[in-house]
Amino acid sequence: MIQLILFGPPGSGKGTQAKHLVDKYELVHISTGDLFRYEMGNDTLLGKEAKSYISKGELVPDSVTIGMLKNKVDKHPDAKGFIYDGFPRTIPQAEALDAMLKESGDTISCLLSLTVDDEEIVKRIKHRGLTSGRADDLDEEIIRNRINVYKENTLEVFQYYADQNKSVSIDGIGSIEEIASRLSHEVDKNI
Ligand code: ADP
Repeated sequence: MIQLILFGPPGSGKGTQAKHLVDKYELVHISTGDLFRYEMGNDTLLGKEAKSYISKGELVPDSVTIGMLKNKVDKHPDAKGFIYDGFPRTIPQAEALDAMLKESGDTISCLLSLTVDDEEIVKRIKHRGLTSGRADDLDEEIIRNRINVYKENTLEVFQYYADQNKSVSIDGIGSIEEIASRLSHEVDKNI
């Protein structure tokens, strides 16, 4: 089964590119950020808890995030494959994902990491904030905190999968179509 991780800092274009990959390879898209926003929109208990972290640009605790992800995966028993967007963001999340896949005899196909420099990220997220309705996109301090959290807690997930020979870096600067074709090229080599 195709099991892709779309990786990269906030604002690197993961959501946009996930849509292309979903269509091309018939995958189920799982974005933990979208799942949290859905829960926050419905003001559920999970949403309330998530909001207390997301509004500061911090990560939601692993136990909450991993439980939510597994629930979502379980809802798609007939999927041809999955693309994980914004997950895993910590080593414990990566370990939990690997363990979950192993139970069904599966494994990650590859981790695709979009690289974009910090100033471009801040510019893109602020621009997105004009229409996204996301409070965490509007405040430069929160945006910079998300970038720091990425460097301190998330970047090591790239090395975790590099140790399994599964990590690939892709230049995230260019047109949407150019980047989509760079990603597909790597997927084709790894499935
Ligand atoms: P972006 O990539 O632009 O930061 P996301 O939608 O992926 O946007 O995530 C928004 C926020 O949701 C993150 O800043 C974080 O607070 C929370 N979040 C999303 N995914 C995870 C995760 N895997 N672990 C912990 N927190 C997460």
